Amino acid sequence: MAHKTVDVHTHFLPPECIEDATNSTYVVRIRESQTRDVLLRREMDAPGYEPAQLYDLERRRQDIARMRVDLQVLSVPPPIGFFYDQEPELAARLCRVVNDGFARAAATDPAQFVALATVPLQDPAEAVRELDRVSGLGLRGVEIGTNIAGRDLDDAEFRPFFQTAQALGVPIFIHSTNAVALGNGKRMRRYHLSNLIGNPTEDALAAASLVFGGVLEELPGLKVYLAHGGGSCPFLRGRWERGWHVRPEAKTCIQRPPSDYFGLLRFDSLTHAEAALGYLVASAGADRVMLGTDYPYDMGEPDPVSRIGMLRDVSDADRRLVLGGNAAALFGLDGD
Ligand SMILES: [Zn+2]
Repeated sequence: MAHKTVDVHTHFLPPECIEDATNSTYVVRIRESQTRDVLLRREMDAPGYEPAQLYDLERRRQDIARMRVDLQVLSVPPPIGFFYDQEPELAARLCRVVNDGFARAAATDPAQFVALATVPLQDPAEAVRELDRVSGLGLRGVEIGTNIAGRDLDDAEFRPFFQTAQALGVPIFIHSTNAVALGNGKRMRRYHLSNLIGNPTEDALAAASLVFGGVLEELPGLKVYLAHGGGSCPFLRGRWERGWHVRPEAKTCIQRPPSDYFGLLRFDSLTHAEAALGYLVASAGADRVMLGTDYPYDMGEPDPVSRIGMLRDVSDADRRLVLGGNAAALFGLDGD
């Protein structure tokens, strides 16, 4: 069955939230009450993309056509769209405004855009309420950070959120944010390593929290997918397995070996290397990998369809799953 080509990893901000934008700065203005606006300024030394690509749907449509993508899954750009550092009540209001904007954007052409919500996970009860609310707005899932203001995803406080996501069948996109800092951050400041090493390490930390922390053991029906091909996580799976067998610390929360839970994870295809993507598909399974580009960022993949087309030792049927079949099943896109 032919599916659309679906990009499950793109970033977007509703145009009504953008106050001012130049090539190096954009200011997000969120009208969160009659009397007070919240301004978040994002300055970029060398942004590598135009701010308009983040919020201008027409510009985005042109880029999508060039990339041979039929449908984009929209999510907020981390960390600015997560609001995890804000006071919880304010964060909840900001999330509602942004999610309403996402719903409006997706409604302009549901065949081209599907939107994920952002939720104030520093207040898990409020995040559950927002998850409930946005399902009524037509949002198809939720994007969360690899950590919530420094707390890992297996923190017991977040379990009600994951329980609700499983009960509602809501897909969860896990994206690195505020990446781990080594040596007080100094060693990651050079050479863009905060992104080149920090973000993929964050992705692996989140996966490890879900696996070793028992989240997937308790909730095997969670529909989770990780950004950046899961970062270093797929390549470390053998080490995790060895660790569980020989070290008591690794067994603290799980009864069975990590490999039993690794198979429950999904990944985007953003690996930037044919051999790495081939390994990801071979080790996770073609039914667990979905095209993802990180549009519009410079660390993204500008020609994802060719990249997936270059995969060797993969059947045409499996290639179609990666290009869009898996995403269609995950987000319930068939029949749209
Ligand atoms: Zn991204």
